Amino acid sequence: MNVEKAILIIAASALLVATVLMTVNVLVNQLDNRKLSLEQRVQTILDNQPIIDGHNDLPWNIRNLAYNDLRRINLASDLSKHEIWGKVNTSYTDFPRLRKGRVGALFWGAYTDCSSQLKDSVEQTLEQIDLIKRLVKKYPNYLEFAFSAADIENAIENKKIASLIGIEGGHSIQFSFGILRMFYSMGARYMTLTHDCNTPWVDASPVDPSSVDKNPTLLPQNDGISEFGLRIVKEMNRLGMMIDISHVSQRAMEKALKHSVAPVIFSHSSARAICDHHRNVPDSVLRLVKKTNSIVMVTFSSAVVRCDGTRGNVSDVVKHIQHIRSITGPEHIGLGGAYDGGDVFPKGLEDCSKYPNLFKALLKTGDWTVEDLEKLAGKNILRVFQAVEQKRNELKDQEMEQGFINGEELDKKKVNLTCITANFER
Ligand SMILES: [Zn+2]
Repeated sequence: MNVEKAILIIAASALLVATVLMTVNVLVNQLDNRKLSLEQRVQTILDNQPIIDGHNDLPWNIRNLAYNDLRRINLASDLSKHEIWGKVNTSYTDFPRLRKGRVGALFWGAYTDCSSQLKDSVEQTLEQIDLIKRLVKKYPNYLEFAFSAADIENAIENKKIASLIGIEGGHSIQFSFGILRMFYSMGARYMTLTHDCNTPWVDASPVDPSSVDKNPTLLPQNDGISEFGLRIVKEMNRLGMMIDISHVSQRAMEKALKHSVAPVIFSHSSARAICDHHRNVPDSVLRLVKKTNSIVMVTFSSAVVRCDGTRGNVSDVVKHIQHIRSITGPEHIGLGGAYDGGDVFPKGLEDCSKYPNLFKALLKTGDWTVEDLEKLAGKNILRVFQAVEQKRNELKDQEMEQGFINGEELDKKKVNLTCITANFER
């Protein structure tokens, strides 16, 4: 009897242990499956629609760190391990990491510093355009040039990163329709109307008071965009060049959205309601973005994501995206990481290999469908680009803008013409 009892107890215990083990196993598997399925879901989304990023400043790093000599750097290697590039706090982009980040297209910034305005900004912009062209030519296994929305789709189909040129700052064209048209003919497909400085025709974002710069560091000179600036906008519409209003003042944003006959873009800006930085987009402007079929490509740079000077993490970027979505819906948001253009990026989005982390975080909110996330990744900016091209086709009989800016306007704004020999009508 005792033996039987003992056997019964042992058998019962064994059954219990087996049940517990099986339950634990099932739970672990479920957790694994859930984890796997989240990652797999993100991978499937980014397989269907790789990321089209609105702004990357790698060319500026190549200028500063390699003097535009592509023999000095191997961009097909992991630069985080490079003895110089791995140590500077501005290098977050190379081709292996872009692939890991599931990037299918990029607008490479042809940027020159505001200090070049009215000096050699045009020369430097030409050098940066030449650099981007050499970059694409040197790395055909990774990059493919794109001049249109269709080219972006083709490059992605060919498993290449579509490469486009975005000019960052209206000072790159000084005040010349001719230079604008030449840049377009060289492949530039957007121009940011300003960087941190006013041009003689558009006001830059530091004219806006914000909690970051309580006292504006610039004075408005152009009521947002001057009459001449509106002619630049008109000519960009005619050319089919996207008007980028990241970096401009709120008044300039409003005027661009009002006067452009095609949708406009913010290539790299986030939400002012989340971080009251003049580089970000106010709610009233977000409403205009929706109304005009335009797009805000959310940027990751900690400086505009967190207003308290801390680095932040993926969830901080999610807050910006969720806020913009709450006003515009999921059709008017994209991504413009601006890697290599800032020195601090949020935890989890440290470099251009980390975009999938953002998609995981957005999936976890439960607010985003697969279709929404494909729009965010790239379909929205493709739609906007196509609309700009469509408008260009409709405007094919519109006369181009000609002539120069008026000399009296330059005098009135006290524009320093020391380095300019051109003769302006007064
Ligand atoms: Zn920028």
